[in-house]
Amino acid sequence: MNDRKFSPVATPPCPVCAKPAKPEFQPFCSARCADVDLGRWLTDRYAIPTPIDEEEDAPKPGGTEPSQ
Ligand SMILES: [Zn+2]
Repeated sequence: MNDRKFSPVATPPCPVCAKPAKPEFQPFCSARCADVDLGRWLTDRYAIPTPIDEEEDAPKPGGTEPSQ
């Protein structure tokens, strides 16, 4: 079905070390780089700080409704 062969030119560079990626390790150039990226990704996920949503109790304008 897939007769297309991977051409090195069309292959984007390894996102880890910017070397030409290999088809068998796409989009990385080697299993090591794939591992590095995975590690980064996991670390990133763990490193994501929980956004503290400090919702201050803003005073409502017009606490007392003006009765007309
Ligand atoms: Zn690489």
